[in-house]
Amino acid sequence: MIESGPTVGVLALQGDVREHLAALGSSGGIRAVPVRRASEIESVDGLVIPGGESTTMSRLLGVFDLLEPLRARLAGGMPAYGSCAGMILLASEVLDGRPDQQQLGGLDVVVRRNAFGRQVDSFETDLDVAGVDGGPVRAVFIRAPWVEKAGADVEVLATVPAVGSEGQDPGAAAGRAVAVRQGNVLATAFHPELTGDGRVHALFAGIVRAVA
Ligand code: GLN
Repeated sequence: MIESGPTVGVLALQGDVREHLAALGSSGGIRAVPVRRASEIESVDGLVIPGGESTTMSRLLGVFDLLEPLRARLAGGMPAYGSCAGMILLASEVLDGRPDQQQLGGLDVVVRRNAFGRQVDSFETDLDVAGVDGGPVRAVFIRAPWVEKAGADVEVLATVPAVGSEGQDPGAAAGRAVAVRQGNVLATAFHPELTGDGRVHALFAGIVRAVA
């Protein structure tokens, strides 16, 4: 483990925390730690919100009094990266969410929860992601959201192709934005932490290093 350099926390309430810690650990020049207390959230240089279940994470954020500390850090410009459920939590608005589901903000987008899940529970394809060099990224979508609307300050980094890389028909997902960035906040509807390809985490580590 790297002992110097910026520290990136992985919100460790629920979801694929270990996979994000592993992916960050190999992205170079940063220290990756699990965080679950307000004091820990206050001290990290960046935060990853993992894939999992956004409604459960939202509830636990409330139970552990982490909603306000996290919202405050995001409003203050802390770099953050959310995958899947993490994207949902960072969004300013969720469609098909639970009525009591809480949003952290940080990303001026409207996402539709379980959007892919209406047709197929999971979908995989190769995706070109702006800012990620070296060829397409394998994108694994698991009951994933997509971005229905993005504010003017949001950069769309990737959209679902009209035909999947293995010839699959993505149906209504075709053309939807599934990777976005707004300032220091990055989000993907898919799970790069599950494929062993560290390039999306390296992109985020670069944002953290630039800010820290
Ligand atoms: N459907 C989940 C949610 O609403 C997200 C799924 C995932 O993170 N793989 O949070």
